[in-house]
Amino acid sequence: MYKMSLMPLFTAEAIQEMVQLLGEKIARNYKFDTIVGLLTGSFVFVSDLCRHFPDPKIKVLFIKASSYGDSTESSGKLDVSLAKDLDISGKKVLLVDDILDTGLTLQGMVKFLQEKGAAEVRSCVLLEKRARRKADIKADFVGFSIEDGFVVGYGLDCAGEYRTMPDIWTLEPET
Ligand code: 5GP
Ligand code: MG
Repeated sequence: MYKMSLMPLFTAEAIQEMVQLLGEKIARNYKFDTIVGLLTGSFVFVSDLCRHFPDPKIKVLFIKASSYGDSTESSGKLDVSLAKDLDISGKKVLLVDDILDTGLTLQGMVKFLQEKGAAEVRSCVLLEKRARRKADIKADFVGFSIEDGFVVGYGLDCAGEYRTMPDIWTLEPET
């Protein structure tokens, strides 16, 4: 079993500051027309981030990519769903995920969107974990960077729980 850290790792205020900086950086560096968010973990991040791109033409789409069961370890196997009617042919896509951990999800999804005909795919993650990278991939835009640890809150879950919490917390093994 796991318990929450005593203090948030990132407070709601720190997250909002970071999302604003990230939004401004993306707006300066990448002219895109479609945001593709990966459900479910990125739904809060996408909703905050997208409001820094006040261009009426930008579309927001969500697809689901699961590699996690109800545990804190990646299964490594990617299952893509909700993408049946995804129309991104010729589009310049900003792919948004919550966490870059082993990199298998982001690598798989960049390839998936390219195969669907996207003209360009650049990626953005709320948080990257440096310690456990397996795939040779970097996100183009990164919010927070931590060494390791399992985090929840601000859309991130553990077995479906913790998503509605405004701060980001670390889950620690119960001793
Ligand atoms: P990767 O394929 O890079 O190993 O894992 C990426 C996916 O695993 C993310 O989209 C995220 O859903 C999930 N994930 C990885 N680390 C964490 C974490 O610390 N907390 C939560 N809640 N999900 C994580
Ligand atoms: Mg995910």
